[in-house]
Amino acid sequence: PDLDGLCARQSVCRACDRLVEWREKVAVQRRRAFADEDYWGRPVAGWGDPEPRILIVGLAPAAHGGNRTGRIFTGDRSGDWLFASLHRVGLAALPTSVHAGDGQRLIGARMAATVRCAPPDNKPTPLERTTCLPWLAREVELVAASVRCVVCLGGFAWQGVWPALKHAGYGLPRPRPKFGHGAEVELAPPPSARDGASGPVLMLGCYHPSQQNTFTGRVTEDMLDAVLTRARDHR
Ligand code: SF4
Repeated sequence: PDLDGLCARQSVCRACDRLVEWREKVAVQRRRAFADEDYWGRPVAGWGDPEPRILIVGLAPAAHGGNRTGRIFTGDRSGDWLFASLHRVGLAALPTSVHAGDGQRLIGARMAATVRCAPPDNKPTPLERTTCLPWLAREVELVAASVRCVVCLGGFAWQGVWPALKHAGYGLPRPRPKFGHGAEVELAPPPSARDGASGPVLMLGCYHPSQQNTFTGRVTEDMLDAVLTRARDHR
């Protein structure tokens, strides 16, 4: 399928018993602040430019964020940090991402989760990551013609994206480089990459803008801006 077809097929996936139960339970119980809202409560698709230069890969939707709004990094604290940074460096139209009809737009970028259903404690298992891999792999394949940079938010996404990149035909280094904030890896582009964009595709590591990381200062605005600026400027 194309990106729309992929999104439609993925939206009815029920492959992970634990995550299906959790995403639906959260959607019924709701947080008091959102008691009047209908939660999405299903897998959260990739979102953004259908022909992106930058692909941002996250962990999984937040229970009361993407699992509520139906849009990745939308309506939660991580998204607040991420979209503010994306806006500062010119990759998002607005500094906030509140709900699916808020007018937000990614500029030359697309974002997707490694695991597409909200997990308890924001912690999917390695098996759930493997089970969800085909959705990410197909999405990476569908956008590979235009992508020049892949930004991985956190070590879980860094680990999870390798098999998806391999599936899409990227040339990958061995051994796989370690994750770190600001880590950079050059990837040989897949055959589907456009003419004129045959130089290396850049893979960047970035600490996840989770509440824990931002609250403790492990990730700062400047650190996020630096990685996203590097992604923006890579041609
Ligand atoms: Fe399906 Fe992925 Fe959700 Fe598992 S996490 S149920 S594989 S969409």
